[in-house]
Amino acid sequence: MYSANTDRYQKMIYNRLGASGLKISAVSLGLWHNFGSVDSLENQKKIIHQAFDLGITYYDLANNYGPVPGSAEENFGHVLSRDMKAYRDEMIISSKAGYHMWEGPYGDWGSRKSIIASANQSLQRMGLEYFDIFYSHRPDPKTPIEETALALDQLVREGKALYIGVSNYDGKQTSAISKIFHELKTPFVVNQSRYNMFNRKIEGDLLPVLKDNNKAAVVFSPLAQGLLTNRYLNGIPDDSRAAKSSSPFLKKEQVEKTLNTVKELECVAEKREQTLAEMAIAWNLRQKEVSSVIVGASRSEQLQNSVNALKNLTFSVEELKIIDKILDDVD
Ligand code: NDP
Repeated sequence: MYSANTDRYQKMIYNRLGASGLKISAVSLGLWHNFGSVDSLENQKKIIHQAFDLGITYYDLANNYGPVPGSAEENFGHVLSRDMKAYRDEMIISSKAGYHMWEGPYGDWGSRKSIIASANQSLQRMGLEYFDIFYSHRPDPKTPIEETALALDQLVREGKALYIGVSNYDGKQTSAISKIFHELKTPFVVNQSRYNMFNRKIEGDLLPVLKDNNKAAVVFSPLAQGLLTNRYLNGIPDDSRAAKSSSPFLKKEQVEKTLNTVKELECVAEKREQTLAEMAIAWNLRQKEVSSVIVGASRSEQLQNSVNALKNLTFSVEELKIIDKILDDVD
């Protein structure tokens, strides 16, 4: 029977999502990879428990996480109902709708039909009464933005979501939907986008919009799916994301292309007495608008390492310049 660490809240940092009342852990756990039906349930359970013991409150899911799609929600729901029911009010659990989930015209994108049906399915898979945050997973160029906004607002009115987020919306799209949510008084609090040393697009585009609107960013793939770690320094391990056939999202060519830069960044991290993963996470958190970095982990040592990033979040101007220079030199 799982019993949580009693000192779990002493080591973690909790940041407010913009001007809202909601605080979340500066490091959160994402269940995109390693929590599907193809993965060991024992390992999943271990990582979810460990996350909670480390003070992580935010668990990020989506309808399609697996593989198979839906299985990460089922597995998380299983662990929750067996071992962690007592802690539900200490957890922020999210899901999303927008990417392909089921066959036919309603299984993806942002129509009212898709969003509502998908949220209901996700609640059922996870055995939950409500989500703490429910996201539109991507903007839908063919559905009026008002329709998507109203569907998300309805989830709040029905008590199925406490807060609303958007994911992969750029600055302009975020600004547009934020206006609608403001008129509706929808508790829209967060944009979830990719941000890491190799993907800095949000710095110039999204972060200024979030600042102006008093909203927060939670950012995904802070380690560039493992590239910004020591994982690939000596080749591509068989059990790594780049090698797995069940995960087509990280290509071997990306590992080869980034290796020299990674080695240079590793030297900077070493001087800071951090691992590269720790430095990459700390570097993301230097942005005021970034309330949380959502990390993935295939084993518990990785998660512990990611949370260790919080031990040194300060960068000197000189260190930031060196990192910029290394990243600028990438073609
Ligand atoms: P990361 O960039 O944190 O990559 C995680 C992977 O990096 C792990 O699976 C592991 O790879 C490796 N890794 C992690 N920690 C370490 C470490 N300390 N040392 C060495 N290797 C390490 O994030 P993800 O790409 O997994 O994304 C995180 C979450 O963000 C997702 O689970 C999801 O919740 C969210 N997300 C949201 C998206 C959206 O569209 N909204 C899109 C993508 C992600 P290995 O498996 O090889 O061991």
